Amino acid sequence: MQFLIPLFYLAAGIALFLGIQAVLLAVYDYSRKLLGWFAFLCLAAAIYEYSSALYYSALSYEHSVQALHWFTAAVLLCVPASVGFIGTYTHDRHTPWWVLIATINSLVLLVIDWHSDVSMRFIGGAELTHMQLRWGEVVTQLQGTPSFAIRYLHFSALLLVIWAAFRAYFIRVRDRRRFVFLVVYVAIQLLTILHSLAVEYELVQSVKLVALSFTSLVVLMALNIAIDIRGVMAQLGLQSDQLQLEKSFSQILKLGQERLSQVVQQSPSSIHLLERDGSLIQRNLASHQLWSDFARQGEYLFSRAPWDRLGLDLLCKQVLATGKIRHQLIEVGAKYLTGSERSKWIDATIFPITDEFDVVEALAIVSEDVTRQHTIDHALRMVAAESAGDEEFFVEITSQLALLFNAGTAFIGLFHQEDGIDRYTSLALTINGLPERNFTAVCSESFAELGKQEYSSVISSSAYRRFPKDEFLGIHNIEGLIIAPLSTKSGDRLGFIAIMDTLALELIEDVAPIIEIVTHRVSAELQRRDAEVRVRKMAYEDALTGLPNRTMLQERLSDTIQLCEQNLSNAVAYFLDLDHFKTINEALGHEAGDDVLKQTGNRLLAELDDQLFLARIGGDEFVLLEMFDSQEGMDQKIQHRASDIIHILSQPMVLGDRTISLGVSVGVIKIPEHATTEADVMRRGDSTIFRAKNEGRNRCEIYDTSMQASVNERLELERGLKLALESQQLSIYYQPKVGLDGRPIGAEALVRWEHPVLGFISPAVFIPVAEKTGLIHLVGDWMLESIAASIARWESEGVGFTGDISVNISAWLFARPGFIQKLLGTIAEANIPTSSMSVEVTETAVLRDISSTKDKLKMLREAGVAVALDDFGTGYSSLAYLKDLSLDAIKIDQGFVADLHDSQTESLVNSMISIGENMGFDVIAEGVERHDQLDKLKRMGCKVFQGYLFARPMPESEFVAWIRSNR
Ligand code: C2E
Ligand code: CA
Ligand code: CA
Repeated sequence: MQFLIPLFYLAAGIALFLGIQAVLLAVYDYSRKLLGWFAFLCLAAAIYEYSSALYYSALSYEHSVQALHWFTAAVLLCVPASVGFIGTYTHDRHTPWWVLIATINSLVLLVIDWHSDVSMRFIGGAELTHMQLRWGEVVTQLQGTPSFAIRYLHFSALLLVIWAAFRAYFIRVRDRRRFVFLVVYVAIQLLTILHSLAVEYELVQSVKLVALSFTSLVVLMALNIAIDIRGVMAQLGLQSDQLQLEKSFSQILKLGQERLSQVVQQSPSSIHLLERDGSLIQRNLASHQLWSDFARQGEYLFSRAPWDRLGLDLLCKQVLATGKIRHQLIEVGAKYLTGSERSKWIDATIFPITDEFDVVEALAIVSEDVTRQHTIDHALRMVAAESAGDEEFFVEITSQLALLFNAGTAFIGLFHQEDGIDRYTSLALTINGLPERNFTAVCSESFAELGKQEYSSVISSSAYRRFPKDEFLGIHNIEGLIIAPLSTKSGDRLGFIAIMDTLALELIEDVAPIIEIVTHRVSAELQRRDAEVRVRKMAYEDALTGLPNRTMLQERLSDTIQLCEQNLSNAVAYFLDLDHFKTINEALGHEAGDDVLKQTGNRLLAELDDQLFLARIGGDEFVLLEMFDSQEGMDQKIQHRASDIIHILSQPMVLGDRTISLGVSVGVIKIPEHATTEADVMRRGDSTIFRAKNEGRNRCEIYDTSMQASVNERLELERGLKLALESQQLSIYYQPKVGLDGRPIGAEALVRWEHPVLGFISPAVFIPVAEKTGLIHLVGDWMLESIAASIARWESEGVGFTGDISVNISAWLFARPGFIQKLLGTIAEANIPTSSMSVEVTETAVLRDISSTKDKLKMLREAGVAVALDDFGTGYSSLAYLKDLSLDAIKIDQGFVADLHDSQTESLVNSMISIGENMGFDVIAEGVERHDQLDKLKRMGCKVFQGYLFARPMPESEFVAWIRSNR
């Protein structure tokens, strides 16, 4: 029985037929490249089958050799044809190269074959043999010793199959159907190759069947192409709208039964006609293109998937009950749909079909694929929605865009510069429906350059060829590309939206406006985000100095405390408070004060380690945060750091044409030793600073637990000061002023507060509090009265005190209208000479209101009350105003005396003394503690001294005793 030979002829015929069909289809412009390769493959396969038939049925040796040559040539033709087709079929963009390699390979083998005696298949000759197949058919073939060339040919074929398998694997996700077809082919091809190897090595007595595997390929692919075409047709057919439908239904009602059935059949919308009881009467062609259901005529439709779960049976009942049309939008899974990989949105409309008496006779379910419209609506709704403008929003936008364009990849890229190079970073990257990790790339020679243009760009195919150096396009095999620029209202480029796919993309008309809306919205969100960042920065930054502010410090502290609690490190907070700042601010104005604060910040930043965190927490208070890896030598380092700070800030500061000198008090809090919450750090820092000031300025104080009690000291002070006046906690100490011979020529009255709980409180601490609360007036009046009374008493008791008691008058007191009258009145009342009292004022007091000051000083001089300028040299003492004021003395600040060993200070003091003398002022040096200081001062011409060297401030009784013995 003849079987195999006819089979070969048949296969050749099929291949030829399909090839011709492919050529015809290609003419219609459908996938021209793919069909071209397919036609070529069909042709090669047809020749292969045909020559196989000739070879196996050859009657003579010559015929057989001739046929074998053709047979081999056909095999060699099949190889590049397969490569070209499979490469195109699986979107391999290196296809041209593979084809070239395969073609060269085939050409070489072809030349070898035509030049070999019998065939390249054999070494030497071969003989014609006959073989009877199992069913009796006799075939002829040549037999000889297999050559290297034939082994190489087998190897090439295997290589081709492996490559095809690899390509199939590559498209497995993106194109499931092509994947399956290709795998089936690879399996068949592999089997036939193995089979023919077995034949070659005479393991099996059979004919080689490789040729037939090509037929399987050709048939499979023809099937695939047919399915593709059906999908395209279906899409074309489904573009009709509701109006048209309703019209056709009104027509249906008018037409007779047969015509009705015809219209239903041809409607482009999917239609299921049902009986009242829900059994299927008929479904039209379009319904097969949309639904993959298997409901049969006469069967109850809603018993089958997917109809059993769409809820349409309920809707049908409603239509039956009301006689009115009903709509429903439903999402239908891909497995219930024809040729779809994704679920679709279907608009289902149920129409009642009535008889002439308006009784519902039947129902029609008309369903239409509205996925596209739905996606657009959804994207628009999302764009319009309020959003938190967070990452999620951007991810959602990109995934919607990908859906909308049916694209595999979409992301938002943001431009920025790094090391002077333009780059972009993805903000939300979606690949194949899933969010991916963001990346950064360089803009130059990349598609991102398109994002800098004014309008959107579309590259429908071969994008990687346009930007060959772009890695992203290369890695992701990008063919089609849409880039929409993102910019601010003023036209600054923020970035772009990129939509890409491994297939060609087109900017379909109905979505073009959406791109525009989306880019607007995304740009607006990006700008809002930027603004938020700026606002946040403002909330965390001190506007004046640009340093972090209190809020930021608190956040940093909370992080630091956490680190410390995990035993990862130790930290120290240095609280800095400028000395004399208030004075400068009040006397020179806020601008000068601001300047001081800025300079202070800059100095600290410039001189200290970059690692340190510096914040300004308000007024003249700064905090420095330092981390320590271990506690070893920590105390020493802290002392070091603190003295650095003091040194840095006590350097003279230039303010316009003045030079001032400041000081700083430093309070140190160790974390976690001293405090483990931010609130504790801040509170204890405050009390440590307070202590530092209390102990004398320009110094550092480390927190100790005894300070715990004084946490609320300042509050306590404010409350306690009034009580102090009433319950006589305030007292007056006297410190003698002596002349060249060491004898007293007067004394300074200094107020003291002995707090019942807090103990001794320095006037340097509570006088500012008194000024702030207004109590300074009461304190001042009390001082004047007590002192005047004491002087009168000494007089009557014959203490023998001569000279003046000088009283410190704070700026507030001095500025009070009627102060002079009060002073003179007190003196008069006590009946003591006006010269027995004098006042010490600071520059702040003098400068506050220079014209009224002049009058006041004149009045005092006329009344015979001497005035000394206190703390001379610490502020911004300007000689210009000194001349105009009726002053009697200047008191050189004790800081200069303490620093006399420094040659610069020495010459400064020297010039102060000579200026004073030239202007006719007495010069008083205060804070004299040692003989060397005294000697130096004397040599410079100073005549009045005050200091511990002679006597400390003493309570009245002690002072009286001291006077008696030093008269
Ligand atoms: P001040 O007017 O410069 O007073 C001199 C300060 O130097 C006093 O401190 C005094 O005890 C201290 N002193 C005197 N000799 C030496 C010395 O040899 N070495 C050192 N290191 N210090 C010395 P005190 O009494 O603590 O007063 C501090 C400041 O408080 C005063 O500075 C003054 O500005 C203010 N003050 C004191 N009593 C009054 C007052 O009754 N009314 C007003 N408005 N302010 C006062
Ligand atoms: Ca004084
Ligand atoms: Ca002083």
